Amino acid sequence: MSILVKNASNTADLQPPYPYSTWIGYWEGKSGIKLDANTKYNCPAGDCKNACYKKDFDGCHVQKVSDYTHKMYIIPLCSSCNQRTDYFFVDENLLVPAP
Ligand SMILES: [Zn+2]
Repeated sequence: MSILVKNASNTADLQPPYPYSTWIGYWEGKSGIKLDANTKYNCPAGDCKNACYKKDFDGCHVQKVSDYTHKMYIIPLCSSCNQRTDYFFVDENLLVPAP
């Protein structure tokens, strides 16, 4: 199911918890989904047409627009979607709760 999210603000200094060294690594560990380094994946943002290799995805902090608790989730997004300030749809199954 698609859900409307936005990038969370002031997350640049947040570091993933041990033993993860990247937010993509954290997302892979928690989601159980392993991204292949040599495969291009479509950016999961609903209206984004970018396809990227794993190294070009950012593990982004997002919040559900409808969730007033402002709980944060991690999802891989392309670098341009990591910068966007609008709302966009993603598959809710891809959201991993942030630590
Ligand atoms: Zn994108």
